[in-house]
Amino acid sequence: MNILEEFDTITAISTPLGTGGVGIIRISGDKAFDIIKKIFTNPNFEPRKFNHGRITDGDKTIDEVIVLPFFAPNSYTGENVVEIQCHGGINVVKNILELVLKNGARMAEKGEFTKRAFLNKRMDLSQAEAVADIIHSKTSDFAKISMKNLSGVLKDEINKIRNDIFEVLSKIVAAIDFPEEVNEPEYKYLTETFEKIISKINKVLAGARTSNIMRQGISVAIAGKPNVGKSSLFNALLNLERAIVTDIAGTTRDVLRETLDLGIPVTLIDTAGIHEGSNKVEEIGIEYSKQSLNEADLIMFVYDASQGINEDDNAILELIKDKNHIIIANKADLISNRNNQTVYISALTGEGINDLKQTLTSKVCKVEPESLEFVTNSRQQVCLERAKEALNQALIASQIRELQDLISIDVKSALLALDELTGELITDDILDNIFEHFCIGK
Ligand code: GDP
Repeated sequence: MNILEEFDTITAISTPLGTGGVGIIRISGDKAFDIIKKIFTNPNFEPRKFNHGRITDGDKTIDEVIVLPFFAPNSYTGENVVEIQCHGGINVVKNILELVLKNGARMAEKGEFTKRAFLNKRMDLSQAEAVADIIHSKTSDFAKISMKNLSGVLKDEINKIRNDIFEVLSKIVAAIDFPEEVNEPEYKYLTETFEKIISKINKVLAGARTSNIMRQGISVAIAGKPNVGKSSLFNALLNLERAIVTDIAGTTRDVLRETLDLGIPVTLIDTAGIHEGSNKVEEIGIEYSKQSLNEADLIMFVYDASQGINEDDNAILELIKDKNHIIIANKADLISNRNNQTVYISALTGEGINDLKQTLTSKVCKVEPESLEFVTNSRQQVCLERAKEALNQALIASQIRELQDLISIDVKSALLALDELTGELITDDILDNIFEHFCIGK
């Protein structure tokens, strides 16, 4: 999307398409009021007020509506905006949209209203991203936290950090540019300042893992040799017959994924049995297994309790020993002797499945949204990590009393990384990528 071409008038349906009480069509841009005057029977509308009337196409009435006009710059996008509230129902909404298009607007792209809000400085990028988070949030906790970002909590903190960096950079640069008049800042001051700023960045990043978990959930892979009951466990956890269960070794040939709701979304991955493949399809499945094991946040290693742990099981355990894992003895219905250390289940009878869910919840899904001060997404985390890395370099350089000219280069990089976070400095590509994940009409 080219920024220069953006300021034509756009429109879209802002409510979900379907049968409902009310449908909303939004128009934004210079021509928004001209367009509405052509199709609305009440042309003397007042801004920020409900204006009642009919939408007409020539002498044909399309619907009785309420029109809500917002005058620039006091609108969501910062432009003239009109919202038409009509009766819900696919056809009415579509007919009005077509009429608006016919009268000079063009169809908005995904997230284009919010993109304009950002480009017109109605919000910074962290707030625009919070809009997407609220729309897409899978849990109510996450929606609440994203609301904090929309109100500017992250933006304010980043601006404070940015100001700190700017201040120290100004002092260094002033001394470089005017060596006669301005003294170089002391190295002690530099190291202390960099340390303070780094610890502020660390505070923002402290919530990164929890933010990511709340946003994406976690992935849990079920691993084990063929026929130990992985697919049966997958089904038992999900209460459905998603995976094909057979007693022929190696029948789960691809990797199955389903979402399990344990407060946060848990993607459950059933991997193909890991053993030396006897045919091509199976080998591919096994390769996928190893990949999904690498990606998973937790691995549930399953063995057959009636057979105990043998060499093949040990080979898989070796593969996952450094990853977060729990060991599960399945087919407990076939044995009588048990010990206290092992998690016993029976995917067949359902024994131990609820306990296992609880173990999963307490082991990996424990997040405390209340304690989360700052929510960040992965793009923002990358920017923060870059700023931190640059400041670490500046810190090391000041500890060894490096030339301040050189130190200033790292400090500038830190500043640029934060400018990218807030959107002060951003390329079209990155912007497109961010707004790509919005829906049309927002
Ligand atoms: P996978 O190859 O590891 O995915 O194993 P499956 O889930 O396909 O199960 C292999 C066989 O073991 C099937 O015949 C299942 O019915 C059986 N099975 C799975 N879990 C249990 C269990 O807890 N108890 C008993 N007795 N049989 C089980």
